[in-house]
Amino acid sequence: MQRAERGMDNPALDKAIELGNELGLPVIAFFSAINNFPHANWRHYHFLSQGLVDAQEDLRARNVEFIVRRPPHNALEKLAVELGAAAIVADENAMREPGRWREVLAHRIDIPYWTVDADNIVPANTFTKHFYAVQFFRPKFFAELPKFLSWPSPGDARHNWKRPRGFESFAVGNDLTEGWGPPFDRSVRPVDTFTGGTRAGQKLLADFVTNKLADYDSVRNHPERDGTSRISPYLHFGHISALSITRAIEDAVAKGNCTPEARDAYYGEVLAWRELCVNFVRFVPNYDNFECAPDWARESLRKHLRDPRPVVYTREQLQNHQTHDDMWNAAQQQMVEAGWMHNMLRMYWAKKILEWSPTPAEAFDTCVYLNDRYFLDGRDPNGYANIAWAICGVHDRPWFERPIFGKVRYMSGASTGKKFNSKRYIENMREGKLFGE
Ligand SMILES: Cc1cc2nc3c(=O)[nH]c(=O)nc-3n(C[C@H](O)[C@H](O)[C@H](O)COP(=O)(O)OP(=O)(O)OC[C@H]3O[C@@H](n4cnc5c(N)ncnc54)[C@H](O)[C@@H]3O)c2cc1C
Repeated sequence: MQRAERGMDNPALDKAIELGNELGLPVIAFFSAINNFPHANWRHYHFLSQGLVDAQEDLRARNVEFIVRRPPHNALEKLAVELGAAAIVADENAMREPGRWREVLAHRIDIPYWTVDADNIVPANTFTKHFYAVQFFRPKFFAELPKFLSWPSPGDARHNWKRPRGFESFAVGNDLTEGWGPPFDRSVRPVDTFTGGTRAGQKLLADFVTNKLADYDSVRNHPERDGTSRISPYLHFGHISALSITRAIEDAVAKGNCTPEARDAYYGEVLAWRELCVNFVRFVPNYDNFECAPDWARESLRKHLRDPRPVVYTREQLQNHQTHDDMWNAAQQQMVEAGWMHNMLRMYWAKKILEWSPTPAEAFDTCVYLNDRYFLDGRDPNGYANIAWAICGVHDRPWFERPIFGKVRYMSGASTGKKFNSKRYIENMREGKLFGE
């Protein structure tokens, strides 16, 4: 268990239970808590650690024991030998490094090994190429979706496993990071704006469906109001699945608590855009740097490389929200203090970093650095694909040519700030109302 850290609505876990039941063997879930996960810091690990409690409870309810190990005792191959495992089922992760770990493991072990996509609803390997725009992806995606909205659940594991006395496993509920020194990164503190775990995710989802979903389409682009689900950290850590979200929303539609229009607006984001981002990461090797730019954007940005930049900020100035732009500073403050930022401001935030950086490649790197460092939902296909959208036109089209940006879409402070009550948003941040009202 790595990308989908939960005990329910988890196709990889279901596959393992199905297999165990068929073979007459117990099922054990394993989480390897390495202390140097790429770009992860204390903030992320704190949320992750909180989530393990619910995962364990839900796994035990299905008669699956949960083993968590920390370095230096965390090798999966070693555990498989210790347990005399018959097979391994792993969840999938489209990103480079976690994807590589799975490949390495496949070569090292000599027992059957499956991977199952427990992150997307439509498994990422359904598609064999990258889709350049959401309008090409959407029809193919929604044509496939009905096939994956339900599957026969194997229920609980039928065969018991009794943990031998003294068997090595971290006691879930304790602080996973306790005692970790370097290379563990403690430079970014945990936030109390979000609590990790399936229960907290479900609570947020229930609140969204009951109180916000009906108005989602009209309120979602108003960062001064608390109109979106804020479910992204739970999706990132797999504490909740897109499938659970879909079920809750279908239920609301069936009860007449949400119009099909509001549902479709939300599905456009949580299903189509989200799974397009995974598609991007899966098929574009340079998904986290400027080399992923489509040809039209690369050429156009190169043409404007020497355009004078009226303002250039250092990474430190940006990080500390020390620019001349109050709206941008407020957004950066939301990122640092809440571990989250509203989508409208994320777009503006990245566009300004392009404008204020010496080169587009440096702007890309700065966005990835800040995004992954401070957001609880960072280090995610959504982050890389959206930064690529903002900086170098991925999943977008050429616009009118202008300085610095070339043909990449521009966003001005004046026009962005007019789309919502930006004054209120800035005041909210000053007053510590990190999610608006
Ligand atoms: C520059 C930039 C950086 C971003 N970085 C991240 C990131 O690191 N991690 C991350 O999860 N999202 C990222 N996003 C996408 C989006 O802003 C967030 O997913 C969203 O704001 C999360 O808030 P929410 O859960 O309330 O969204 P809601 O509006 O409630 O949407 C529900 C879900 O739909 C998905 N979604 C919404 N908007 C998008 C989108 N544009 N692309 C893909 N999926 C989307 C998310 O999973 C989100 O949780 C970024 C966007 C931009 C422009």
